[in-house]
Amino acid sequence: MAFDFDLFVIGAGSGGVRAARFAAGFGARVAVAESRYLGGTCVNVGCVPKKLLVYGAHVADELEQAAGFGWTLEEGHFDWGTLIANKNREIERLNGIYRNLLVNSGVTLLQGHARLTGANEVEVDGQRYTAEHILIATGGWPQVPDIPGKELAITSNEAFYLKDLPRRVLVVGGGYIAVEFAGIFQGLGADTTLLYRGDLFLRGFDGSVRTHLKEELEKRGLDLQFNADIQRIDKLEDGRLKATLKDGRELVADCVFYATGRRPMLDNLGLENTGVELDARGYIRVDEQYQTTAPSILAIGDVIGRVQLTPVALAEGMAVARRLFKPEQYRPVDYQNIPTAVFSQPPIGTVGLTEEQALEAGHKVQVFESRFRAMKLTLTDIQEKTLMKLVVDAETDKVLGCHMVGPDAGEIIQGLGIALKAGATKQQFDETIGVHPTAAEEFVTMRTVTR
Ligand code: FAD
Ligand code: NDP
Repeated sequence: MAFDFDLFVIGAGSGGVRAARFAAGFGARVAVAESRYLGGTCVNVGCVPKKLLVYGAHVADELEQAAGFGWTLEEGHFDWGTLIANKNREIERLNGIYRNLLVNSGVTLLQGHARLTGANEVEVDGQRYTAEHILIATGGWPQVPDIPGKELAITSNEAFYLKDLPRRVLVVGGGYIAVEFAGIFQGLGADTTLLYRGDLFLRGFDGSVRTHLKEELEKRGLDLQFNADIQRIDKLEDGRLKATLKDGRELVADCVFYATGRRPMLDNLGLENTGVELDARGYIRVDEQYQTTAPSILAIGDVIGRVQLTPVALAEGMAVARRLFKPEQYRPVDYQNIPTAVFSQPPIGTVGLTEEQALEAGHKVQVFESRFRAMKLTLTDIQEKTLMKLVVDAETDKVLGCHMVGPDAGEIIQGLGIALKAGATKQQFDETIGVHPTAAEEFVTMRTVTR
């Protein structure tokens, strides 16, 4: 059967764009359908605008430190509208770049909602297209628990377009987004409370990192409330919101922001017309090569619910394009030692096993831990501490994990990701000459075993 396309990609986000561009580059006839925004979550309501807001919030730190370096500044004034307008302009620029990337690589771009009508057929705005392979890269969507008044709350999608900076914000959740946005709101001047249902936020991160960040955020005046969850939200006559907690307490705020995880985006996708099955958590079930239970249909990125990070979606998109159209270059995605950052204030950078994971996996563990006040702060009154930690296998000397909380943690951890991928030992870390004076050099000068 002659198909309209060799590959039909649903979703022009991180994974979909990468797969489409590379497949077209390998000579395939490729179409991409996008219903909302080019570049997907990351570009429009994720990594990029988030990082721009984090930079905005970080200016407050620089201003606070300025006096120690001899600068006298007039009282600063922050304007949320300017930041959001500038951010929107940058996102529009990136949307245009994504459009050009696709079109210039020969991809047919279809604007509209795509719905599967068969194992080799997709419908976009009433028009049907056939393809030998279909790639589902539809990403995810914020998930808010079903409580009375949930419609009064916002999620990250809306936060990027708020008209005004709320004066008082309740952030609900204890994952990446909650911690990052609590820092953004607080850094920009909102009175911010973070409510997390468990004992300590950032479940799954290294224990020292979680505790250290908690202490640093509290030093900065962020109101952290653990073992706290909202039962209902009501609107008050003055327009503010009243959150009633499960323990009966009532908190009043201008904005309640939920960051309680994301669900796969499968709305009106037509999976029922195919043999595509979901896994127990509701994500699309795929095998090691991203093939779904319908052999002509593949899926990558957030919609398969493995590791919900842009560079992972990119790697999966690349793997699919290569496997289908350039098999001699195919290499499976390595899910070990994925470096990641949480852009909290201060940020976290981490790669490899946490101390807890290493112990659970049966390693005999040596821990090297260092806490210090960054040189930049020595001329200021700020008492913030940086944490650096290495988790080492005592028998093989291999470094199993590197963890950091402190300025530039995301930048620093990228290089350590390469070291761990190369299987570096603690001795090789020790034999590496430091860059002086930096904070990063601490990673190659930790000599004394802490535990
Ligand atoms: P997406 O990028 O979500 O793309 C899916 C696309 O499919 C969307 O454009 C959508 O409109 C489209 N679509 C959906 N259904 C259809 C349909 N039926 N028809 C046509 N089009 C459809 N990751 C990081 O690595 N670093 C970060 O700093 C980071 N920060 C984040 C901050 C926030 C607030 C959020 C929400 C996420 C963040 N992430 C970050 C995660 C990252 O954005 C995602 O992992 C990544 O975007 C997933 O890519 P994807 O291709 O799977 O899906
Ligand atoms: P996460 O899965 O990271 O965190 C969700 C949080 O919400 C957890 O603390 C969870 O608690 C809590 N939670 C879940 N359900 C409920 C509920 N019903 N009531 C109260 N609390 C609840 O999701 P996020 O939304 O923060 O982010 C989604 C993903 O996007 C991240 O996992 C990450 O992969 C990606 N991302 C990456 C970023 C980066 O790279 N810097 C930045 C932002 C997002 P518990 O732990 O108890 O289950």
